[in-house]
Amino acid sequence: MLKLYNTLSRKKEIFKPLKPKNIGLYTCGPTVYNYAHIGNLRTYVFEDVLERVLSANGYKVKRVMNITDVGHLTSDADSGEDKIDREAKVSKKTPAEIAQFYTKVFFDDLKKLDIKIPGIIAPATDYVPDQIKLAEQLFKKGYAYETPQALYFDVSKFKNYGRLSGKSLKQKITAARKEVVEDPGKRNPADFALWFKTAGRFKNHLQRWPSPWGEGFPGWHIECSAISRKFLGQPFDIHTGGVDHIGTHHENEIAQSEAAFGKPLAKYWLHGEHLSVNGGKMSKSLGNFYTLQDIIDKNFDPLAFRYLVLTSHYRSKLNFTMESLKAADNALNNLRNFLSAGENKKIRADKKITGKFEEGFLAAINDDLNTPRALAIVWEIIKNRKTPFSAKKRLILGFDKILGLSLKTAKTAKIPAKIEEIAKEREELRRNKQFIKADALRKEMERLGYVIEDTAYGTQITPARH
Ligand code: AMP
Ligand code: ZN
Repeated sequence: MLKLYNTLSRKKEIFKPLKPKNIGLYTCGPTVYNYAHIGNLRTYVFEDVLERVLSANGYKVKRVMNITDVGHLTSDADSGEDKIDREAKVSKKTPAEIAQFYTKVFFDDLKKLDIKIPGIIAPATDYVPDQIKLAEQLFKKGYAYETPQALYFDVSKFKNYGRLSGKSLKQKITAARKEVVEDPGKRNPADFALWFKTAGRFKNHLQRWPSPWGEGFPGWHIECSAISRKFLGQPFDIHTGGVDHIGTHHENEIAQSEAAFGKPLAKYWLHGEHLSVNGGKMSKSLGNFYTLQDIIDKNFDPLAFRYLVLTSHYRSKLNFTMESLKAADNALNNLRNFLSAGENKKIRADKKITGKFEEGFLAAINDDLNTPRALAIVWEIIKNRKTPFSAKKRLILGFDKILGLSLKTAKTAKIPAKIEEIAKEREELRRNKQFIKADALRKEMERLGYVIEDTAYGTQITPARH
């Protein structure tokens, strides 16, 4: 029995799909004006685990991810500049070039983290007519109004506004008042744009399409309402994103879709908690803004980051430090070493024991994707004295279909022959109790960029991290 925490009900619920076997899953995708940071990637790992868990429960998952390549302003609440437009102007490239470049890097990152690429990828600019149609529908139904600068959704007309975040419209308006309102025609600070005209502050906007309200470009939220409905219908089963989406982006998606069609947008809303770095928010100015490439440049396996993400529950805050990444990297290496070097003692697998492990693992991941518990079970299996290596390996590789640590194909880091030789020599010295000489060789290896550690699964050599 699969249980998932639904932000909408604020409860862990038994998952009941809308159709018996097929599930619609919508994941808000990246805004492709910059590299994704490791916080963003934490959210994509959580969503990947969700998809894998749904598949493991026998569901066929149709997953859609949008790519935001227009309309996302520097503030989620409609103030500032369009992120892609600004980046294009600064770097003297076209918006399409910016979007293509960062979309490619994004998918490369996903592959490195063993994240399954969603079946349907939908760049917002490919679906502008769908977004215009939806905005027209809202306008016709009296939910939208026009100013010389934009077409806005009137939040006061939608009685359920604020249900997802649990905030009243009054609270929302008070919060929105703090935002700079750049259009004097906006009736209410919490109203949000469905369409921006290439007028006023967006007079020189690069991306533009014709519309019933004049040339312009879509607001950010409407792409997700239009794209999810196009591919998954309405309502669909599960909608996901990071917690920062709850209060504005997802609230606005719900308002648009429900107002236009009189039906809920999605049944379950799942949100991943944020990743912080050294206890704080990631920011370029603090110098703690990490991309996956930054981690790779420090000689870490990207899957060590995935392992680190799995060690905490997706609804808990996770504080990233280089030390925690190093610990995850060591654990992953130990796991790999165990799987490649474990010895088969002459004992028979006991179905009662292996069955218990299987049940435990399934119960953990089905309990709102409890990956830390699932990982703990993997280590229990490794330590279990009554189970032969072959059975342990079979169990762990089976679980890896959910964990996604590429354990089947994983090789431990390639170590140069010269380093292997020094390691052997050191081993020999240690056996002869010549510890001082052995230690000198360890230092020599470190000087050459390799760390040697004596683990429960034998001696392990890894490239030094910096
Ligand atoms: P964006 O490209 O800004 O639209 O964000 C992509 C995804 O990353 C969204 O689901 C966000 O909610 C999520 N996200 C943003 N910042 C963080 C963070 N620090 N930790 C985890 N997820 C985040
Ligand atoms: Zn979205």
